[in-house]
Amino acid sequence: MPSPPLRLAIVGAGAAGLVASHELRREGHTPVVFERAVAVGGTWLYMPPAMSFDPRAVGATVTHYSSLYASLRTNLPREAMGFLDFPFAAGAAFPGHEEALRYLEAFARQFDLLRLVRFQTEVVRVRRWSDGRWAVTSRKLGEKGSSVGKEKFYDAIVVCNGHYTEPRIAAILANYLYDFPFLGDDSTITVDDNRVDPLYKHVFPPEVAAQLSFIGLPLKAIPFPLVELQSKWVAGVLSGWIKLPSKDEMMEDVKAFYSKLQACGWPKRYTHNLSKCQFEYDDWLAEQCGHPPIEEWRKQMFTINLKNKTARPESFRDEWDDYHLVAEENEDFNKFL
Ligand code: FAD
Repeated sequence: MPSPPLRLAIVGAGAAGLVASHELRREGHTPVVFERAVAVGGTWLYMPPAMSFDPRAVGATVTHYSSLYASLRTNLPREAMGFLDFPFAAGAAFPGHEEALRYLEAFARQFDLLRLVRFQTEVVRVRRWSDGRWAVTSRKLGEKGSSVGKEKFYDAIVVCNGHYTEPRIAAILANYLYDFPFLGDDSTITVDDNRVDPLYKHVFPPEVAAQLSFIGLPLKAIPFPLVELQSKWVAGVLSGWIKLPSKDEMMEDVKAFYSKLQACGWPKRYTHNLSKCQFEYDDWLAEQCGHPPIEEWRKQMFTINLKNKTARPESFRDEWDDYHLVAEENEDFNKFL
């Protein structure tokens, strides 16, 4: 039997939070998205340094810290970068950051997601209640100061808070990238040497699955399609039509994964670095959800781009010749346009 509609809290309205809210609502659930910034887009919401305000600063009332620089262009070809069923097509192959933001805004408008988002609202505390629900405390941010709101209860929490805000600063002040200041011990996870532990397939802490999930942790992967597939998986699991293994089985899988990393000499801090196995991971997620695997043209485009980037770091955005893959992409995406 599918589960009854759930009331869900999503932390963050970047690419991951937007696609998670879309997939969860598509399943009939009621997501509320908490976003501390004034608008959607997360990383892609650029602010010039003078206007940018570090939300981690003591007494911060305004809300945005940008990790981009003004002239940044994407480092992935736009066609490969976009969501699976919402083409990021037609335009410069490696657009500026403004265009990536416009794409996410268009996604939010197309699927009527903006009304789900509570802007300038930061999640400060998430606690597990004895009945299995989660209590979320948020604070409203604004020019005139901040105010802490009442605890509100949710059936499940989906963490989409990104990992490009906390800086990694060499040796002197080691910070590693994952940070969940609003979670307590009852989340059952710890972050050690940039490993979020334990997580089944980088998403579910076995002990509290599926009522807590993390979307967007993997590194060295194409983020948008990956967070889309993770969102579909989480939505299917929460609805009850996708089954997770037992807690013990998930823990066994986590341990086996760690042993494999160790045997390859892969350091702990690379636990969520998908590197060469990103498409294997994507396709595993797709299979769980009954979704087709990642398109062949996207896989090839990524691989060619990686080679170009390594060979010509200064000019790979302007010298490329995989037009045949763009033609394949156009044909594939015609159904959505
Ligand atoms: P984010 O975009 O970081 O969104 C997280 C959101 O959560 C933010 O809006 C934040 O305000 C909010 N939040 C955090 N904590 C709280 C809280 N406690 N309460 C409420 N809200 C909260 N990807 C590509 O595909 N192509 C590229 O070319 C590319 N280039 C990049 C260049 C740079 C310099 C950087 C930093 C990243 C780049 N990326 C690129 C990766 C990029 O991060 C992803 O594309 C994507 O933006 C990740 O989305 P996300 O939703 O996981 O995280």
